[in-house]
Amino acid sequence: MPLSPRRFIPQHARNRAMERRTKKADPLYASDEWKHLRERVMHEEKRCRSCGALPAKGDQADHILPVKTHPGLAFVRSNIQRLCASCHSSKTGKRDGGFGRARNSSTQGNASLIIL
Ligand SMILES: [Zn+2]
Repeated sequence: MPLSPRRFIPQHARNRAMERRTKKADPLYASDEWKHLRERVMHEEKRCRSCGALPAKGDQADHILPVKTHPGLAFVRSNIQRLCASCHSSKTGKRDGGFGRARNSSTQGNASLIIL
């Protein structure tokens, strides 16, 4: 039986798949508090905060400052923004070293944030 050829999967796609698997397993994203907050963000923000795209399947409720480095802001409304899939992927790629780049910790603290 011939083996099927291995398909090349770009690093950013592998990172994104890993992120999805990790988020599914993360109790934060399974919690009712997160689900309610995510719904609130999607209701209040009608467009991607980065590019202004209209709502579409795949839009994300994104932590402006990552939970990994700012766990105390996980459920703070002002730390969460609506991003389209493209902008979210781009942001995640820059932060997590997508497209062959090294991880860039300097992007983690660039956002301006008002905690209410
Ligand atoms: Zn966008």
